[in-house]
Amino acid sequence: MTNQTTNVLSLSALELHQAIQSGQTSAVSVVDATYAQIEAHEAKVGAFLSLTKDLAYEFASDVDNKVRQGETLPLLAGVPIAVKDNISVQGAKVTCGSKILETYVAPYDATVVKHLKNRGMPIIGKTNLDEFAMGSSTENSAFQLTHNPWDLNKVPGGSSGGSAACVSAGMVSLSLGSDTGGSVRQPASLCGLVGLKPTYGLVSRFGLVAYASSLDQISPFGRTVADIGALLDVISGHDGNDMTSATFKPEMGYLNSTNPEALPQHLGGKKLRVGIIAELNGEGMDASVQQSFQQAVKIFEAQGAEVVTLSIGGIREMMAAYYIIAPAEASSNLARFDGIRYGVRTKEKVENVYDLFRKNRSEGFGAEVKRRILLGTFALSSGYYDAYYGKAQAARRLLVAEFDKAWQQVDVLICPTSPTTAFDIGAKTDDPITMYLSDVATIPVNLAGIPALSLPCGFDANNLPIGLQIMAPKFAETTLLGVASLFESAVGLKNLIPSTFS
Ligand code: GLN
Repeated sequence: MTNQTTNVLSLSALELHQAIQSGQTSAVSVVDATYAQIEAHEAKVGAFLSLTKDLAYEFASDVDNKVRQGETLPLLAGVPIAVKDNISVQGAKVTCGSKILETYVAPYDATVVKHLKNRGMPIIGKTNLDEFAMGSSTENSAFQLTHNPWDLNKVPGGSSGGSAACVSAGMVSLSLGSDTGGSVRQPASLCGLVGLKPTYGLVSRFGLVAYASSLDQISPFGRTVADIGALLDVISGHDGNDMTSATFKPEMGYLNSTNPEALPQHLGGKKLRVGIIAELNGEGMDASVQQSFQQAVKIFEAQGAEVVTLSIGGIREMMAAYYIIAPAEASSNLARFDGIRYGVRTKEKVENVYDLFRKNRSEGFGAEVKRRILLGTFALSSGYYDAYYGKAQAARRLLVAEFDKAWQQVDVLICPTSPTTAFDIGAKTDDPITMYLSDVATIPVNLAGIPALSLPCGFDANNLPIGLQIMAPKFAETTLLGVASLFESAVGLKNLIPSTFS
């Protein structure tokens, strides 16, 4: 690979867009470089389940034609992007990392995909994930492992591990994942990226294969806060096809809010107030994560922020509530995969229609998905509904009240995104509870419906990235992005690609 190719791919998405708009490089040559980088490294990374080359080149040529005709391109036009394989791209497979959907082709575009196409963003391929987005390491994919570009023996996190790994490995500068309990923020943390889970309802879920509908949110990965702001401008907005879609649009736009100088404007001229969540400070965390978090606190103080420690009562217990609510919703959402309307059908002889369902589902689903369906069905069964599901929903309401109290005192809350850095492949596969604990700090955000972002704040002794999570009130993404960019420039960790890939 030539140096020139490598240079193009190490640009941020906004720089790349600028280079295409100014004619310094063409969109087609960027797509060429992208596939060359994938060819060079994919065998060891395993980020993609399928590539969508025809689609990518079609959109790239169109962008180049527009540049030749002197047109001003829309934001991010020509910038390649990868999409998690539980988001529908018309004519491409959408497997959800499951054998049951191995041959399923999406008949329509997800709303977010329509937005990407309207902007002329070439879609490069579909990325690996834990089956139906259930997991924290991408090891639950029925098809392949994905490796962390910072250390190929480690997991990239999950469930959006493929979308994280391809951005980290310099294949693309942007990707989409989905975040139900941390599936974008945790892999962003483990791969040294920026990942944002928007407010519930800000980004349409139409065309995202549902896992837990009251928690799911399509969420972007990038290497800089500004790129995330730009992509959020592209994918957010009201959609009549999603009944939970919000109508909110900030006046200033998300990209504009990533200028740290705009921050005082969000805060009404007042000093930034940052809250440390007492319950998520220390317990069960790696020493390196804890240390890096303390440094992050010092950085905020040095930037003139007022930092206070406060309590979000019951936040650690949200793991238990999540593992009732998410499986309950999943057991209902996944009922449609019966091998008749969707999915692969058993080749075995069947007795009757129930036997057909049973065999299709037994063969088609992996162990973790079965575990969730059983847990969820049990939690919803008559006699147990109030004891489990009802209680979990009550706990969720209390959490929302706790966050609301906190927002009276602070503008944002901070904590480490993940209690550990990337762990060895295979280290937690036999112990689901330990695996579930990876998300102790991310899950409450989905239950409360608020936005949160993870961005790099340091490295451990093995040169593995550490992430800082910043949370904000509902629809306060402009504040969130402003604070994140303030931190990003102060910490000086931006657009990270491990040296073996750059
Ligand atoms: N790891 C969590 C789970 O398995 C979160 C997954 C996600 O956000 N999709 O449910």
